Amino acid sequence: MNEAPEFPPGPDRPLPGAVEVVVIGAGVVGVTAALTLAEWGVPVLLCEKGRIAGEQSSRNWGWIRIQGRDLREIPLMLESQALWRRFGAQSPADFGLRQRGIAYIAEDGEELARQEAWLASARPFQLSSRMLSAAEAGALVGQDDARFAGGLLTPTDMHAEPALAVPALARLAAEAGAAVFEHTAVRALELSGGRVAGVVTEHGAVACRAVILAGGAWSRPFLENMGLALPQLAVSAQALRTAPAPALAPGPVGMRTASVRPRLDGGYTVGRVGTARFDLIPAAFAHFRAFLPLLRESWRETRIRFGREFFGALGRRRWRADQFSPMEQARMLDPAPDAKLSADLLRMARRVYPQLRGVPAVEDWGGMIDVTPDEVPLIGPVAGLEGLTLATGLSGHGFGFGPGAGLLAAQFAAGREPAADPAPFAADRFARP
Ligand SMILES: Cc1cc2nc3c(=O)[nH]c(=O)nc-3n(C[C@H](O)[C@H](O)[C@H](O)COP(=O)(O)OP(=O)(O)OC[C@H]3O[C@@H](n4cnc5c(N)ncnc54)[C@H](O)[C@@H]3O)c2cc1C
Repeated sequence: MNEAPEFPPGPDRPLPGAVEVVVIGAGVVGVTAALTLAEWGVPVLLCEKGRIAGEQSSRNWGWIRIQGRDLREIPLMLESQALWRRFGAQSPADFGLRQRGIAYIAEDGEELARQEAWLASARPFQLSSRMLSAAEAGALVGQDDARFAGGLLTPTDMHAEPALAVPALARLAAEAGAAVFEHTAVRALELSGGRVAGVVTEHGAVACRAVILAGGAWSRPFLENMGLALPQLAVSAQALRTAPAPALAPGPVGMRTASVRPRLDGGYTVGRVGTARFDLIPAAFAHFRAFLPLLRESWRETRIRFGREFFGALGRRRWRADQFSPMEQARMLDPAPDAKLSADLLRMARRVYPQLRGVPAVEDWGGMIDVTPDEVPLIGPVAGLEGLTLATGLSGHGFGFGPGAGLLAAQFAAGREPAADPAPFAADRFARP
């Protein structure tokens, strides 16, 4: 979070009049979709209402993991990791990409059993993942009192610095020929004969043949404004970073109590699964039935409240293309972190990682995560609206998956063969009986 992207705050040149594809949103998904299209020689415009990676894509923990994923995501996640390696090698800037494995440490037998079950289910994919004994789990985090039950390690998993990585990929996209525009909200699509003919931005219209909507938490209100429903809600999460600390583990470590990822600056990004806060907005009621199973599963871990967002920009339902839009009203979703939660997080992290005792936190931040009812992304065409591809709903694990999602979206937009079976990501899967 601490590194500001290097792009200027507003457009310093006119928008192109026409392109093949417009990508809406410069998070990791939109940036990698634009980069992929530009590498194929497809004329592409990337529009970002605020700053490159200003929302989730710079605020995340930076884990690029295959470990623990929904099995439906694994084939595309393998593509995604290959892309991360290629982009890392291509980028002149070091954005902290390191392949040092990711470990989950089980604090009790129940967690260990869940890890073993995932490993057994993922066996057909022949991943590098393996179980750790209690002693190995302790040794991995520099502790020899073996108080852990064991763990799961995937040595091929990676991590990177999100706030450096996505702007670096945007620079690669611009070098490959993509027109990259910050401070450029897309207010609406232009349609002709039931298909996409262009977009209307706050700086004027751009004709195009295809649009990729990679708007993160904004994709649902954007589609609702066109009369289309999208089962996607947003929850806020938070994280913090510490000052430089003694070496703790080679790569990210996930524990129920607290999770850590080593940073390029010598500190750790610290977070915790289950600190999500859910602000009720009208869409929550519209999609209540679809989200019920997920809410049942995670309601104990999620704090629900009637928050600012109820009447805020994400809750606004209708605007015209010639009107100031909610995307201009809120250039960057920047939910304030809860100070008590941050203090608890640091205290708990110090409990399980003694190396952090006496190391201060230097920054904490919040981020809005967009979620689908089954926590699997929505990537693919929209029935009845030819030319529109969705690439959204990355559900809290889209930094690692981003390049794969961007690739699949680019393939849809350019009419190419998909790199992986797109059926699990179909946008209409919740509407089917
Ligand atoms: C605290 C936290 C920790 C996380 N940890 C991890 C992790 O370790 N690993 C992992 O894989 N994932 C993690 N995630 C999730 C990950 O950050 C997201 O899934 C991912 O960044 C989503 O990328 P995106 O491109 O879909 O969306 P975003 O990054 O939200 O980007 C969408 C962009 O679209 C722009 N936009 C929207 N509408 C418009 C419009 N109409 N016109 C122009 N621009 C528009 C927005 O301004 C925004 O910049 C975490 C998230 C959080 C908040």
